[in-house]
Amino acid sequence: MADDCIFCKIIRKEVPSQPIYEDHDLVAFPDIHPAAPVHVLIVPKEHMLNLNDVGKNDVALLGKMLRLSARIANEKGVAESGYRIVINNGNDGGQLVPHLHLHLIGGKPLGHKLG
Ligand code: 5GP
Ligand code: ZN
Repeated sequence: MADDCIFCKIIRKEVPSQPIYEDHDLVAFPDIHPAAPVHVLIVPKEHMLNLNDVGKNDVALLGKMLRLSARIANEKGVAESGYRIVINNGNDGGQLVPHLHLHLIGGKPLGHKLG
């Protein structure tokens, strides 16, 4: 847990969100500035900066994040139409919140552009 981290605050319920899913390891909630009709953030409860912080013991956690994404995509009705999973890492990666998280984005065509 990091005192000043906005996602840690959401996890501690000091800042409100509308949780879509929560268990011992993960939370998922809608992005406050959605880039598409479906835009959900999947976040480990343990504070880690980004993929650079992920160790051997976190491999199962990452797999769980991906499986949860697919499940939420299905619940949100975009499993068949398609969706994008994004993890931004560091400055050049466009990471704004310094707590590892995965974006699930769908509900509109996103095209082939990366940037
Ligand atoms: P990043 O650029 O770090 O990968 O993305 C951070 C995301 O977190 C952004 O899409 C931003 O809209 C979202 N975000 C930032 N602060 C909050 C917040 O307080 N609540 C929610 N639900 N989303 C947030
Ligand atoms: Zn944090």
